[in-house]
Amino acid sequence: MTKINMKTPLVEIDGDEMTRVLWEVIKEKLLSPFIELKTEYYDLGLSNRDNTNDEVTVQSAHAIKKYGVGVKCATITANTARQKEYNLKHLHPSPNATIRAILDGTVFRKPISVNRIKPSVITWKAPIVIGRHAYGDVYKAAEMEIDGPGKVEMVYTKSDGTERRVKIADFEGSGIVQGMHNYDESIKSFARACFLYAINEKIPLWFATKDTISKTYDGRFKAIFEEIYETEFKEKCAAAGIEYFYTLIDDAVARVVKSEGGFLWACKNYDGDVQSDMIASAAGSLAMMTSVLVSPSGVFEYEAAHGTVQQHYYRWQKGEKTSTNPAALIFAWSGALSKRAELDGLSDLTDFARRLEKAVLSTIEDGIMTGDLAKLSDPPPVKVLNSWEFIDEISSRL
Ligand code: NAP
Ligand code: MG
Repeated sequence: MTKINMKTPLVEIDGDEMTRVLWEVIKEKLLSPFIELKTEYYDLGLSNRDNTNDEVTVQSAHAIKKYGVGVKCATITANTARQKEYNLKHLHPSPNATIRAILDGTVFRKPISVNRIKPSVITWKAPIVIGRHAYGDVYKAAEMEIDGPGKVEMVYTKSDGTERRVKIADFEGSGIVQGMHNYDESIKSFARACFLYAINEKIPLWFATKDTISKTYDGRFKAIFEEIYETEFKEKCAAAGIEYFYTLIDDAVARVVKSEGGFLWACKNYDGDVQSDMIASAAGSLAMMTSVLVSPSGVFEYEAAHGTVQQHYYRWQKGEKTSTNPAALIFAWSGALSKRAELDGLSDLTDFARRLEKAVLSTIEDGIMTGDLAKLSDPPPVKVLNSWEFIDEISSRL
């Protein structure tokens, strides 16, 4: 069989633990036999990040900027327990945060729907996609402990030297304060990314904030979305037959649970962090959720929404063939390959990516699945396989 050729390298970002183990198997069994894989490889395994003083993370983000498309394995965000475990010299920030800070943009998370796995919310008929703003707010906040009585103020020193102040609170005892920010430019690109995604997928766009309480901060998000809609997307939305809908975040949460699904829910950074886990688990499983970062500069990073599946890794190290679900990792590859194919005009690669996804879905729909899905399958599974057997089954269908 002749293999499919690629034009431009895909930026491949390796990671940690169980997902690193499966990454290799996916490449060996599902990709390399069919594609002459052309990747630029970055090892973001924790030890290599530590050895390179996290330079490798920064380099991988710049490589995505250069080539346009990256695919990323899950990575450990180090904490003190991990520092001991891996004997680390430093504690670096989360690689995802570092990469997102360089690429900016919006993370879209979409459940992978299969017939046998029914959402716990029975009204949901189509997937709900989360569009999470990936910059600022509480993730870039300055915080301070207040250790006794005193006044806390926010001060803005303009570049011309003039000052503006607002009082945050008078403390009578100890407490805490936090200062958050966001930039109009980042909010605008978040809004644009969401409108483009919704129009591309032909699904309605919902956006919600707490602008009744946070009149200035959340009010700005609401106003920018409205302005971008009115000036850039109103006609395009009408042409695509989709609606832009704004409401309060509490109203949105209530409506989402009663909805039929099938829309993009644009969320501020924290709302998106929390609500994407709610959507993933209500839709079935964290292992059945895809994730793509769309940057305003027009570059894309694909990954699985779950972490490194640490506990499975420890069991694998003891010799167990775990039943870890590789679906989201495979969809990260198919998503990235498909985007590469689109940009390079490679119809055979587009076709391969589609077949790869079909092979995963048909395997699960035929009742052949990993342990995490076995508990959710209705009707019950025909066969529950370990990850290696499951990947072999997909490979045989390919
Ligand atoms: P996790 O790796 O997502 O796993 C949490 C639990 O979810 C697992 O113990 C497992 O449940 C289930 N699970 C997740 N993915 C699965 C899969 N593919 N197949 C089957 N079950 C799956 O989260 P975590 O244990 O909280 O975090 C582990 C490490 O991942 C941490 O060091 C964290 O920093 C990192 N992390 C990385 C990313 C990223 O790179 N994008 C995201 C999140 C977390 P059972 O044990 O019940 O089987
Ligand atoms: Mg989260």
